[in-house]
Amino acid sequence: MIGIDLGTTNSAVSVIEAGFPIVLADKENRRLLPSLVSKTNDNLYVGHEAIPHTPSQSVKSLIGREEVPPSYNGGPTKIMSGRIQVMAGDTWMSPVQVSAEILKTLKATAEFRLGKEQREAVITVPAYFNDRQRAETKEAAELAGLKVRRLIAEPTAAALAYGLERASENTKIAVYDLGGGTFDLSIIEMRKGNFEVLATAGDTDLGGDDFDTVLAELLDCSISEATEQKRAFDTASSVSGVTAEAYEKACWKLLERSRKCCERALIDSGIKKDGLDRIILVGGSTKMPMVRKHVAEVFQQEPDLCLHPDEAVALGAGIQAGLLDGTVQTLSLIDVTPLSLGIETLGGLMNVIIPRNSTIPCKKGELFTNAVDGQTSMKVKVLQGEREFTKDNWELGEFEVAFTPAPKGQARVGIQFSLDANGILSVLARDTSTQEDTHITIERSTVDITEVAVEKMIDESVDHALDDMDGRVFTEAKMKADELLPSLDEALTLVGEQLDEETKAAILASKSDVIAALESQNGAELKKAVEKLDDATEELASLVMQSILG
Ligand code: ADP
Ligand code: MG
Repeated sequence: MIGIDLGTTNSAVSVIEAGFPIVLADKENRRLLPSLVSKTNDNLYVGHEAIPHTPSQSVKSLIGREEVPPSYNGGPTKIMSGRIQVMAGDTWMSPVQVSAEILKTLKATAEFRLGKEQREAVITVPAYFNDRQRAETKEAAELAGLKVRRLIAEPTAAALAYGLERASENTKIAVYDLGGGTFDLSIIEMRKGNFEVLATAGDTDLGGDDFDTVLAELLDCSISEATEQKRAFDTASSVSGVTAEAYEKACWKLLERSRKCCERALIDSGIKKDGLDRIILVGGSTKMPMVRKHVAEVFQQEPDLCLHPDEAVALGAGIQAGLLDGTVQTLSLIDVTPLSLGIETLGGLMNVIIPRNSTIPCKKGELFTNAVDGQTSMKVKVLQGEREFTKDNWELGEFEVAFTPAPKGQARVGIQFSLDANGILSVLARDTSTQEDTHITIERSTVDITEVAVEKMIDESVDHALDDMDGRVFTEAKMKADELLPSLDEALTLVGEQLDEETKAAILASKSDVIAALESQNGAELKKAVEKLDDATEELASLVMQSILG
């Protein structure tokens, strides 16, 4: 699947190759396609080839609109049966038809480079595009023979391109996109490969064209000449007798408009300037030194120049396409377990082996013992979740471990969990007396869980923390009580008469406390009662031992 930046001024197409996004070049090795179309004497010209044939320009600012905005300067237009038409060469065309020709050309470039037909695409649109503008963009794609798998916002695409290599970071960035005719500023929060747009602001009538107009006046030349000369300022401090300072001064109104947008977006996002980790520059006009200087002033930090301003949006579209078709596995380099992993122990309780948020890959183990005399095997239930009881967690798998029979509590089984970088869990169980291993691999990735499910599990664990905890205390105390009570009566008959009345009374009182707490199902009370009974029977237990040993 391909990704397309369908720009007002320039367009580009990208794809994931060997895990990385690349912008595809046409037969002449050009990676940017000017968004220009001309149909002259029934010949169709698109991009660079259209330049000498009075092409239609900036049709993106007309797509999905009912009226031509007053600022439109892309050539003659008219309204025909309620729809805008633009003059492309000597032919009237709709903005959808013009866009379709641009998309067809990009599709052909991709097919030429990739050697196979491309039928699906991700296309970027400005964040502020409404339903109609989006619908017409899709219509254009269909005309071009492309099914739109997703439309994504341009700043989000730029953030994706920025985020690909930094997916594990938690950062707040501003994407400053100054193109040919529009300006967009978005503040985006990236957390573990997820993107949230906190605020956007922009000016649909501010871009490189305005800087061309200013320069044309300064140099007293044509707009197209000014466009050429403007680039010279990228490196030169003076062009045709006009100094960079003079040019910058003449552009102050334009820069002031940009400043207002930036400040509004900052206020809307609730983030202070120093709370932004990076300012990413996107769009051809951010190559202008005065724009970079302006950005540094507004945000009080140097902008990040890591992204190619002409290609970032297309690359982001390619990454999104890769995420959809599976060529990019996952953006977030999953580096922690979202939920705890463990096994079930006696009483249906979850025993955590790898706690949530552990960094992966990792390996952890614990020793377990037999609950019953002469037990020859143990069932290992592998669980995932944050709750105390098995029934509230997710069961990932189950297996039997055989071990050498031994008296209760004396067999030793080591259970080891290893989690690889993909979140695949292998469980190993070893009988320490025979060194025999049993292991299983949980095929399902333990980290591939939706954010929603993780959140739900954690919320529930917090909601039920007290109940769960009490439940756990009760279950553990009950197991102890079940062990103590039956042997108590036996012991009393055996050696009871050797105890003084006071001790005997204390034992009986604790015994009835335990029974009462068992009935009332109160964990804390039962735990206390069991401990008291344990203390009270200390002497009794040693008398029993003596009588057994003779
Ligand atoms: P869009 O997103 O609107 O399609 P682009 O991001 O391609 O636009 O930006 C096009 C604008 O960038 C034009 O106004 C062009 O003059 C300007 N531009 C491109 N390269 C340079 C450069 N090297 N120096 C100054 N301006 C440039
Ligand atoms: Mg753009």
